[in-house]
Amino acid sequence: MEPPGGVTSGRARGPYDQGLDERQQMDSEQNTEKVVRSDAEWRAQLDRDAYAVLRGAATEPPFTGEYVDQKADGTYRCRGCGAELFASGTKFDSRSGWPSFTDPMVADAVELKTDTSHGMVRTEVLCARCGGHLGHVFDDGPGASGQRYCINSVALDFDERSAG
Ligand SMILES: [Zn+2]
Repeated sequence: MEPPGGVTSGRARGPYDQGLDERQQMDSEQNTEKVVRSDAEWRAQLDRDAYAVLRGAATEPPFTGEYVDQKADGTYRCRGCGAELFASGTKFDSRSGWPSFTDPMVADAVELKTDTSHGMVRTEVLCARCGGHLGHVFDDGPGASGQRYCINSVALDFDERSAG
């Protein structure tokens, strides 16, 4: 079904154009810009465990996450949107079973929210860029900040710093 040559022939390949536009938009986004996706888009993008944590505020079982014992130098990013969240230099062994950090990479990389679920009052840690649930922050950390960011591995991606 070729359109007759002439005025309407230019915009026939809609779906492809759209995909390309979205990709370009992602690449050009700055860290400060919010990432907003529909639930269906998140489901398509994230694997089941990452979706349950980032979009459903689930908690991965302790001592199961891939970054619990990760000691390499590098940067931890949000698995939802790629925002840089935590640096390896602030990671410490909390023996809690989850990756733990004393501080976010920059203060406004994360958003904090009071969470009263499960009969507790906790402070939820969210990615400031995409609103994804990362974990909770507690005030029993070992660093100068006194804070312990208790973060699900499955909410993170790790970029190892290349040697040299
Ligand atoms: Zn994010």
